[in-house]
Amino acid sequence: MSSRPSIYLDYNATAPPAPGVGEAMVRALEMGGNPSSVHQRGRNARRIVEDARARLADAVGAKPQNVIFTSGGTEANRLALSGVADRTVLASAIEHPSVMAYGGTMAPLAVDSGGRVELADLREKLAAAERPALVSLMYANNETGVLQPIAEAVAIAHAAGALVHCDAVQGLGKQEIDLEALGVDMLSVSAHKIGGPAGIGALVLSPGIVLASDRAAGGQERGQRAGTENLAGIAGFGAALAALDGSLSDQPRQLALRQLLERQLVAAGGVVFGAASARLSNTIAVAMSGVASATQLMHFDLAGFCVSAGSACSSGKVERSHVLHAMGVADALSDCAIRISFGRDTLEGDLLGFAAAWKDLCRRKAAA
Ligand code: PLP
Repeated sequence: MSSRPSIYLDYNATAPPAPGVGEAMVRALEMGGNPSSVHQRGRNARRIVEDARARLADAVGAKPQNVIFTSGGTEANRLALSGVADRTVLASAIEHPSVMAYGGTMAPLAVDSGGRVELADLREKLAAAERPALVSLMYANNETGVLQPIAEAVAIAHAAGALVHCDAVQGLGKQEIDLEALGVDMLSVSAHKIGGPAGIGALVLSPGIVLASDRAAGGQERGQRAGTENLAGIAGFGAALAALDGSLSDQPRQLALRQLLERQLVAAGGVVFGAASARLSNTIAVAMSGVASATQLMHFDLAGFCVSAGSACSSGKVERSHVLHAMGVADALSDCAIRISFGRDTLEGDLLGFAAAWKDLCRRKAAA
């Protein structure tokens, strides 16, 4: 087994801890205290929660009182979709499973071969919906990185009396996310995609949106999400948000790296999905035709590279991508797809090393 540390190219699954996150969490754990207690320990805990809340509000252009901490992006998505009663949920076909599970009565919104939601389909489905709708559209897809036309979708949805929820879990820290500029009514984010801990996230509401009350179950988070707050998680989220400062300035460098790697992979026969669409700077979904995703993952793991097959499936198995399927990619090719996602600590040499490992596998395939 190689003793070299592996090169981590799976940031979209979970980003490496940002500076200061571990320390902030340990401090909060050692301090203890319940933010709902009125004594000094409780007040200190409350300060940590409110500081992180203000930081998150600032990061996404929202008001602190409209930030609801949750146990992650999954719960934020579920809270958004279950929190506004009596609406038909209209979600795109490439959403995270936590959204897809709410599919409801209408077929998912179609996406084009470039991985973008079809706005004509949104118009049609809004017109056909029997009740006012709640449209759920992600900011950027976790597998392909393709950016969705949020502003256009919001304009169409609002004109039809619908609300819009945006899963911005993969957008935060990689793109400017501004609730007001986007015009969405609800926005989900998750700490571990920006270098914070897993198990903490938030749903951010635009002014005027009120969720079904959770007050009877406990009353925390202004009665909208019951349960004692995850103090250490929130402290870690706050520290990760603080460490984000300036992260957008690294995006042009990451884009140049992505383009460099893509050129090498395509020259060696790789098929990049969503290649012609605007995408996150850090994400490449690519197929090596004829080599199953699981085989590739093992090869790259042995060669010292952590990548994943599309989304990091909770079962640990490689499953066929519903995202590539929705884009019309043939199953045979989709079964040979992997995702490479990187971030601020990734160097050009890391990606050139990966390209060499890729070419090595291509050569072996050709020789077999
Ligand atoms: N939404 C998207 C787009 C994601 O990529 C993920 C995580 O993979 C989630 C939601 C779920 O977030 P969490 O892991 O915090 O529950």
